[in-house]
Amino acid sequence: MDAEQLRENAHKMVDFIADYYKNIESFPVLSQVQPGYLRKLLPDSAPNHPEQFEDVLNDIQAKILPGVTHWQSPDYFAYFPSNSSTAGFLGEMLSAGLNIVGFSWVTSPAATELEVIVLDWLAKLLKLPEDFLSLGQGGGVIQGTASEAVLVVLLAARDKFLRRYGKNSLAKLVAYASNQAHASLQKACQIAGIHAENCRFLETDSSTNYALSPDILQEAISKDIAAGLIPFFLSATVGTTSSTAVDPLFELGKIAKGNNIWFHIDAAYAGSACICPEYRHYIDGVETADSFNMNAHKWFLTNFDCSVLWVKDRSALIQSLSTNPEYLRNKASQGNMVVDYKDWQIPLGRRFRSLKLWMVLRLYGLENLQCYIRSHIEYAKHFEELVSLDQRFEIVAPRTFSLVCFRLISPHNDDDFCNKLNHDLLDAVNSTGKIFLSHTVLSGKYILRFVVGTPLTEERHVNAAWKVLHDEATKLLGRGSAN
Ligand code: PLP
Repeated sequence: MDAEQLRENAHKMVDFIADYYKNIESFPVLSQVQPGYLRKLLPDSAPNHPEQFEDVLNDIQAKILPGVTHWQSPDYFAYFPSNSSTAGFLGEMLSAGLNIVGFSWVTSPAATELEVIVLDWLAKLLKLPEDFLSLGQGGGVIQGTASEAVLVVLLAARDKFLRRYGKNSLAKLVAYASNQAHASLQKACQIAGIHAENCRFLETDSSTNYALSPDILQEAISKDIAAGLIPFFLSATVGTTSSTAVDPLFELGKIAKGNNIWFHIDAAYAGSACICPEYRHYIDGVETADSFNMNAHKWFLTNFDCSVLWVKDRSALIQSLSTNPEYLRNKASQGNMVVDYKDWQIPLGRRFRSLKLWMVLRLYGLENLQCYIRSHIEYAKHFEELVSLDQRFEIVAPRTFSLVCFRLISPHNDDDFCNKLNHDLLDAVNSTGKIFLSHTVLSGKYILRFVVGTPLTEERHVNAAWKVLHDEATKLLGRGSAN
């Protein structure tokens, strides 16, 4: 790495990125390219000789950006957000610059120690019980994604039960969650060898606003125990992916404790909101949990990836995931004096991700972070009001955070027609390139999801988005039927 060349080109790259952000509203939010578009534009093989940086930048502008969906656009309202911010970006840049691989404390003491400290800070902002802090038996760790977080705690729980019931009892272990739990739990079960027929994704419906009913959970557990099976893992969600339903943590936690089950809380999206006192009650009951996860890369201004996991008993993770090959032995690890995060995660290597979270916390501070979350929830409320005032639409599930679930009502009282109508509306809206929304299905109903969550979104973007939806709905209904 030539420092002067880096300085020159990195300045150009920062200019490029700053201009990108300045002009981000000029791009279609959802990329409009067709599959395979890039192969037609790039050579068949890598160059033999170095090319000019300017030529690469030109290709990025002309060939790559058309194939980018602009997650940071203020007109992006799909899925859940994936925040970028100046502080997060600078932290990411520094992490790339230092490019350490901090698997053991000794490989970069600052990386491990900053992570421990910053996750204690964040745990305190969320008012998590002290058991999750690093000074006792627990602690936090940054995983790449919520999928990895649920996998590592599922493995820890599985192994705890296998130690208790014997290694041949794997086929008897049963995991529980609602049918609204994120698919990452199903994948974790697949990887952990939990038999598909032992994964209980329990029914939910509009009567509980798609939250898991404690009675249904208790009934399923009792039935499984009577059948000689071993309940071992429960995952509750605060802010489900489809509709931001909040499972009743306290009641579910009581059942989990009563049955000695590992209790995990997935607050991937909504966890961030719980730094505001008025939303903290959504994680009341977290004291009954064994592990808690939120994605700082979703709605906490920390660039992807940064999924924060806290556990009460770090030894359970370490017993499942630790390896100790000769080539990694060192005095600090052997003396049990340090945290070696390689034993809390799947891969060996790990990035210096705490830098970006630290920079977000320091450069914005709690008050600004709270204002940020509150402003998005206010914009979502405003959107909800706009939808409610138009009698052609209905709100389908209660808005809890910054997601509004809504749909066009069918003029013909016909479910299939209504689903097609809303499918066509989503297609029409996203094809404009002006905004990007996504969908879900709840109780057989095709529903549009509008999530406010990008840092650049202002009320005017929400109003403009509503106008696009309103106008496309008018066109569609004017045609008399769905296409
Ligand atoms: N859990 C919930 C509630 C989610 O909404 C998501 C993704 O949106 C995930 C887990 C998976 O997140 P990740 O992409 O970090 O694995």
